[in-house]
Amino acid sequence: MPYKTFGFTQEQILMRDSILGLLGRVLPAEKMLELDKASAFPAAAFEAIAADGWLGLPIGSEYGGAGASNTDMAVFIEAMGYYHYGVRSAYMTTAIYGASHLQYHATEAQRQDMLPRLIAGQLRMCIAYSEPDSGSDAAGIRTRAVRDGDAYLINGQKIYITNAHVSDWMVVSAKTDPDAGHKGLSLFLVDSKTPGLTIRPMDPLGSRSSLPNEVFFTDVRVPAGNLLGSEGGAWPMLMRGLNQERLLLAATSAGHCMRILELAKDFAVNRTAFGKRITEYQAISHKLADMHMLTELARMATFHAARMLDAGEDAVLETTTAKIVATENNFKVADLGMQIMGGAGYMAGEMQRLFREARLGPIGGGTSEILRNVIGKRLGL
Ligand SMILES: Cc1cc2nc3c(=O)[nH]c(=O)nc-3n(C[C@H](O)[C@H](O)[C@H](O)COP(=O)(O)OP(=O)(O)OC[C@H]3O[C@@H](n4cnc5c(N)ncnc54)[C@H](O)[C@@H]3O)c2cc1C
Repeated sequence: MPYKTFGFTQEQILMRDSILGLLGRVLPAEKMLELDKASAFPAAAFEAIAADGWLGLPIGSEYGGAGASNTDMAVFIEAMGYYHYGVRSAYMTTAIYGASHLQYHATEAQRQDMLPRLIAGQLRMCIAYSEPDSGSDAAGIRTRAVRDGDAYLINGQKIYITNAHVSDWMVVSAKTDPDAGHKGLSLFLVDSKTPGLTIRPMDPLGSRSSLPNEVFFTDVRVPAGNLLGSEGGAWPMLMRGLNQERLLLAATSAGHCMRILELAKDFAVNRTAFGKRITEYQAISHKLADMHMLTELARMATFHAARMLDAGEDAVLETTTAKIVATENNFKVADLGMQIMGGAGYMAGEMQRLFREARLGPIGGGTSEILRNVIGKRLGL
């Protein structure tokens, strides 16, 4: 199956080839299955990614990074999504979610101290916003941060926090003024080893090599200097990263679609039933044609949004559309791929893993319903 690179620059093609080559060496097929079964973080792959400098791709050159564009990042994340969902998640929690808060909202001293270590793979991060009673409604959280001398005391609970169990630092949202709505929300950099923090891995359907966690805060004392930006200033900081987050979740799903199509096609051309290859039955070849169309649309929406962002356009409609189209197409493609492979797809193996992983897209990083609300609002409804 050709992995088309139309419209990519030579540097982007080289970058795609390099990351796929690296992952092919450090994460062979049997290792991917093993990680999924053991629910284990892909530590060796993460270290190899760091050793080759890829964690610095989206980070500014003043901190030792490469300052990649949105399109560069979409090319890179699409390749990771194609190769392995979990390692892509391991990459994003640190290099995208954690690093962007450091880069744009931490003090200069914190940036100089933490970003080079993050790029070197010595500092893993995660973001902790969601709570048991408040996921989509990010401002409706209950976790409290109360000023106590030169520190804040944090009490509350977070849930579904990807890679918290393997992170050194987390970015935590908490209410500093529970009566001030969005303006009562603040963000803190919290050392995962702080006393009073308890982290408990959860048992998800898919993406088991980057586990979600419950995180409990009991009088967790955080130095006042670890407040990101200003007290009550979290909302614009949370909104700032949304375009890039939606774009890269779309890119993940576009890559995932390509792998599922490839796997289902390889299976179908080699499978016979009633004396014929199953691809000779139109019921199967049309499913593969549908998978191709859904994949193409996911990629088109993703790269269109990326190029608009790079051109400096307000691309909220496009990044939101790309996230919905790519993640929903991803699960449709996985469902078709599973059907084509029959019992072989349903049993433990790559198709089963891809199917389980694909279900997350329309839930994580803004559900399809919430994102349709965003589009409706932009349409003036
Ligand atoms: C595997 C996994 C990893 C995750 N990783 C992280 C992480 O690292 N950090 C983090 O902070 N969070 C993380 N999340 C949380 C994720 O962002 C939330 O699950 C998501 O935002 C939805 O919130 P919720 O699950 O509480 O659902 P709810 O917000 O309770 O929604 C339930 C249902 O109601 C719908 N709904 C809610 N409000 C509206 C509305 N206004 N209009 C229409 N429909 C609505 C939703 O679309 C959904 O279908 C993760 C989740 C999962 C499953």
